[in-house]
Amino acid sequence: MKRKLLAVGLAAALSCATCAQAELTLYYNPDGGACYHADAYCEAVHENYLPLDPFGASQLDEASYALLTPCTCVLEARVPTLYYNAEGGSYYHTMANCAVVDDEYLPLTAFPASQLGQTPYASLLPCERCTQETHVYVYHNADGGRRYHSSPTCYTVDADYLPLQEIDVRDLPASGLEACDACIQRDQGMALPVAYFNPAGGAHYHEDPNCATVDAAYLPLSVLPGLLRGSEPFNRLTPCETCCK
Ligand SMILES: [Zn+2]
Ligand SMILES: [Zn+2]
Ligand SMILES: [Zn+2]
Ligand SMILES: [Zn+2]
Repeated sequence: MKRKLLAVGLAAALSCATCAQAELTLYYNPDGGACYHADAYCEAVHENYLPLDPFGASQLDEASYALLTPCTCVLEARVPTLYYNAEGGSYYHTMANCAVVDDEYLPLTAFPASQLGQTPYASLLPCERCTQETHVYVYHNADGGRRYHSSPTCYTVDADYLPLQEIDVRDLPASGLEACDACIQRDQGMALPVAYFNPAGGAHYHEDPNCATVDAAYLPLSVLPGLLRGSEPFNRLTPCETCCK
């Protein structure tokens, strides 16, 4: 009963547009799950427990969530990825080693497909070679959604419409769809490496899980996935001067 109330309270909190921007939604199985997840429909969880229950990332230091560890879906989430030549290329590619591009520019630089409409990617055109051979898909609600998403189960979409349908990135310009802000934010975080933090407090994040500047009682430090580093309250942590380069 208590859990139900908690879930309702969270749903209300997350419906605030400003909060939804600042705080990432994570998921867990309240029936004894040991992990927290980036996806309400995580493939690593038995289907009987799906969809998972949402909670805000800032609650990870609370007793009921502090013992959860990140699932591989948090650590290695598959983000639809495109490539470009950062030294002035005018095309985007679906493979890092596209044969059309001069060897000296290979491998190409990766960027999340959700950023295709943003600077400096907005003017890139699809490479005629690789985008025909290798397709990169994003997701949308074919039932009238106006945004495209990099997750087929983006939490900003009403559960009735999940999972979302695939759409080839090549078809995005004609579709008029715009990138989902929540997916952009999440994908930017995914690009950051794993760090470590002290859930009991501390102002820094660390590269060394056993950093000597931290009291031994708090070691080893907890994993801080890249996904969480850009969201409240973890975006307030500053790099440790001893272990971070
Ligand atoms: Zn998972
Ligand atoms: Zn190409
Ligand atoms: Zn989204
Ligand atoms: Zn440190």
